[in-house]
Amino acid sequence: MNRVFLAMVIVALFALPFSSLTPEYWITHLNYIGLASLVVLGLLLLTGVSGLTSFGQAAFVGLGAYTTAYTTTALGWSPWFALFAGLILTAVVAYILGAITLRLSGHFLPLSTIAWGLALYYLFGNLEFLGQYDGIAGIKPLNILGISLASGRSMYVLIWLFVLLALWGSSNLLNSRPGRAIRALRGGGEMSESFGINTAQYKTIVFVYAALLACISGWLYAHMQRAVSPSPFGLNYSIEYLFMAVVGGSGSVWGAVVGSGLILTIKDQLQNVVPKLVNSQENFELIFFGVLMVLVLQYARNGVWPLLRAWGYRLGISRHANNVLVPDSAQELNRRARPDNNINVLEINKLRKEFGGLVAVNNVSFSVKAGEIVGLIGPNGAGKSTTFNLITGVYPSTSGSATFLGSRLDTLKAREISKLGIGRTFQHVQLLPQMSVIENVALGAHQRSDVGVVSASLRTDRSQEAQLLFQAAKQLKRVGLGEVMHEEAGNLPLGQQRILEIARALASDPVLLLLDEPAAGLRYREKRDLANVLSQLKNEGMSILLVEHDMDFVMSLTDHIVVMDFGTKIAEGTPSQVQSNKAVIDAYLGGVE
Ligand code: ADP
Ligand code: MG
Repeated sequence: MNRVFLAMVIVALFALPFSSLTPEYWITHLNYIGLASLVVLGLLLLTGVSGLTSFGQAAFVGLGAYTTAYTTTALGWSPWFALFAGLILTAVVAYILGAITLRLSGHFLPLSTIAWGLALYYLFGNLEFLGQYDGIAGIKPLNILGISLASGRSMYVLIWLFVLLALWGSSNLLNSRPGRAIRALRGGGEMSESFGINTAQYKTIVFVYAALLACISGWLYAHMQRAVSPSPFGLNYSIEYLFMAVVGGSGSVWGAVVGSGLILTIKDQLQNVVPKLVNSQENFELIFFGVLMVLVLQYARNGVWPLLRAWGYRLGISRHANNVLVPDSAQELNRRARPDNNINVLEINKLRKEFGGLVAVNNVSFSVKAGEIVGLIGPNGAGKSTTFNLITGVYPSTSGSATFLGSRLDTLKAREISKLGIGRTFQHVQLLPQMSVIENVALGAHQRSDVGVVSASLRTDRSQEAQLLFQAAKQLKRVGLGEVMHEEAGNLPLGQQRILEIARALASDPVLLLLDEPAAGLRYREKRDLANVLSQLKNEGMSILLVEHDMDFVMSLTDHIVVMDFGTKIAEGTPSQVQSNKAVIDAYLGGVE
């Protein structure tokens, strides 16, 4: 949002409770919207951004509410200490639940969230010391520096302070090193892991983060209501929170406020209007509500926020979402030590991969020296990409070994291999289409920085962030994509997306670069530019293993060529030796004389 407009919204928000003109009813309504916004913001990160659906979020609200309800009434704790205790308890519970359930794929994850959501709900309702289904009453109001927050108006200020703080922190988080890794979770794990990102760890982090926001909401709720009972922490509330997240849309953290505000207001109005319309006391509003939701999802697939933003552009109160600020200069990131030329960087020894009965890679051996470009060629289906995937740890090998500067690769995970200094591109481009080009490339430099969630949320990571973006911009300029760094990556033509992948691999500071058909889809001039970049990299000591079908490109660029056919190495040598090799000619021409 535009800063001036944002400031106006915030001032108006906090002026409301101080005006006696504001009806009490509004204050209460906005309090509920604020409380829901906190939960929905967590869901936005979890479900909207990372693609991990949770039907159990209300249970975490309950955890926060019940912790403070019990400890402040039965044990006489200070509510602030109870908040702290609630956060710790929620973090532990979420961590354990996350460790068990987040690895589940497909519909098993949502189902398991329903299961533990219900389990916690029934726990609240059955524990004697929590008052069973009657709950706990007589909770004291909050008190800050002697000022009692007993009134709805004073709670309003506290609730919305928490909401704004959470929005600020979450928006900071999304635009940072850990935030990019979180946004990458949606794309599956293969690419992220190939750049040293521990996807399981980041899933757990967003899961705990979302649970903590829900816990804070529950704590505020308990001290606003001064009583808790299990019903607001049940499954139907979890579903409603999910609705709010979907309706708001995940394009911006403000989607949480928009979604909560919209759903709660519509529900509220329907409860007033529908009974008059249909002249009955039955719960017809739920039907209206359902129909309305279907319509919203039909016409605003990505939520309501993108629509509002589009209007905002026209009115000049939104700024472009993709504009990350790239610094003109920044301290260089640390670089890896380079091996001396002519040392064997990569040694492949009798590497083998079977897929069921198919031998995709059949006891292949070759090596790559420092500062050398080795071509790996062969007809389609020869096993070239599989060889790449064995080297980079995407697949485990059936037998044989791959050794990189003395380290055995075949026992390591993809992200550990990446940390040793192997960068790669994918034959089928793997990038985050809705993320800007430069952010995609910054993902490649992930492992060269150690900024965590806390410093990212509090924005104390700005110098490290500048280093990462500066590095990403530098690699983009190097491969000739400097002009398009703020575009959405998905808008680039396929050829440029491949070049983007090279920049991303370079950003990881590799010693060995594996390129899978980098020139496919490029025009003549673009190919020539790419060849120049690759030979310059070689001159700087980079080792490159190159799979490519364009023979002119391969022959002019490589020092050494390995030829595969049906999984087997059929020839190896300098470009001219390979070109005149009979077995190679046969393989390419299908044995026709
Ligand atoms: P290339 O990259 O040389 O065109 P690939 O390495 O992609 O060849 O494929 C080699 C062979 O292995 C092909 O027959 C392909 O169908 C098979 N293959 C590749 N990946 C898999 C997989 N994940 N499961 C089963 N078969 C596979
Ligand atoms: Mg291939």
